[in-house]
Amino acid sequence: MATGETPAEKQARIVAAARRDMEERERGYREQALKMYPWVCGRCGREFNHKNLRELTVHHRDHNHDNNPPDGSNWELLCVYCHDNEHSRYEDHIAAASGQGTGGSSSKGATHNPFAALKDMLGDD
Ligand SMILES: [Zn+2]
Ligand SMILES: [Zn+2]
Repeated sequence: MATGETPAEKQARIVAAARRDMEERERGYREQALKMYPWVCGRCGREFNHKNLRELTVHHRDHNHDNNPPDGSNWELLCVYCHDNEHSRYEDHIAAASGQGTGGSSSKGATHNPFAALKDMLGDD
């Protein structure tokens, strides 16, 4: 039992634990998504390898980071630039309140649809 811990120290410890928790969870789904999908940005088609894999991020299609179905249906691999872009666009979407049906069930299973990115691009605006 830790004695002499100030409330600030205690809070810092709790925050650190929560952050570690979150990072572990994040690493968990990132690893799963990277195993499941080819290392290609779903928007610009940029390909990744072990050297630049840091720039490939996992995007949540419904923007809910707590929604991590094991079949990966809520994940999309995006490069950092497209990911950024996706999020600013999402905010625009909310502002405009325009419902966009992406029907993202096509990428289920082991086969990757090479036209998914193209479809997404065409589906825009
Ligand atoms: Zn990209
Ligand atoms: Zn995202």
